[in-house]
Amino acid sequence: MELELEKITLPGVDEKRPLVIAGPCSAETEEQVMETARQLAGRGIKIFRAGIWKPRTKPGGFEGVGVDGLPWLKEVKQETGMYIATEVATAKHVFEALKAGVDILWIGARTAANPFAMQEIADSLRGVDIPVLVKNPVNPDLELWIGALERINQAGLKRLAAIHRGFSAYDKRIYRNLPQWHIPIELRRRIPDLPILCDPSHIGGKRELIAPLCQQAMDLGFDGLIVESHCNPDCAWSDAAQQVTPDILDYILNLLVIRETNQSTENLNELRKQIDECDNDLIQVLAKRMRVAREIGTYKKEHGMTILQTGRYNEILEKRGSQGASCGMDADFIKKVFDAIHEESIRQQMEIINK
Ligand code: PEP
Ligand code: MN
Repeated sequence: MELELEKITLPGVDEKRPLVIAGPCSAETEEQVMETARQLAGRGIKIFRAGIWKPRTKPGGFEGVGVDGLPWLKEVKQETGMYIATEVATAKHVFEALKAGVDILWIGARTAANPFAMQEIADSLRGVDIPVLVKNPVNPDLELWIGALERINQAGLKRLAAIHRGFSAYDKRIYRNLPQWHIPIELRRRIPDLPILCDPSHIGGKRELIAPLCQQAMDLGFDGLIVESHCNPDCAWSDAAQQVTPDILDYILNLLVIRETNQSTENLNELRKQIDECDNDLIQVLAKRMRVAREIGTYKKEHGMTILQTGRYNEILEKRGSQGASCGMDADFIKKVFDAIHEESIRQQMEIINK
């Protein structure tokens, strides 16, 4: 199915990349909302986000202030002239948000994963013309993401965009939600006219990752950014670790390098992304190899063996040399690589033996 789309143009909002939406994870108090909004507006941000209803993994957390927070968003709009955006997850949320004059709706990752909820929201929006941003579902399922967009589109809404916020993983390492960039890239290929925004806050889960993720999204040709910003991030009632002050956000945005998006650079960036992933894998494999080498060092020490076991070293060079050659690499190159790796292993083992 083809999506029938219309461009999201908002009077007063610059059309050049990136479209920026910023604001706190959650609306907490009138003061926090207004203070954050004033600071953001003062730095040129035109679209304010704040969660009114918060989907929480476990009960008992802060579940949002609910309808009581909607008048604060109205006040933001009146005082600063910013557009206001909030998350909706049910027909009732849609009803309340529209009543309060919310300009842009977004659908959260947990909701996007649920076709019943998506259909309920779509039905509640029939006949309404409002921009709707659909986050990727929590699980890495492109079809489910596209299906969520299709449901909204079939209800007659044409001003749509996607938000890439990463995908959940069982063991979290660097990222709170894995970027899996190939998924939004494939979405772009499948629906070229659909704007894609990146949510570096929920991908990264920590402040330090916001700047590099924003840059990466820009380099991949994304259209916009939705970033969590709070006047006092450390005291935020939700997602404290990933929010930045409006000042820091401004700094991050000013440092972004925005390159032309034409097909060739997009392809190049995609390829570079793949190179980065390979290099990342290489480092991890090397680190693992060194850990094993250190264990061998301990064994050699305990058994009074010498570090350099020439026979073994020759065996490695020969075996890997011909293996490399069979994969189209120069045998001498492979020898150099393994020489260097071996040298570092020896250095690490020496450290253990001389300890
Ligand atoms: C949010 O934007 O604050 C949020 C709850 O995000 P997500 O749905 O991506 O987890
Ligand atoms: Mn959040």
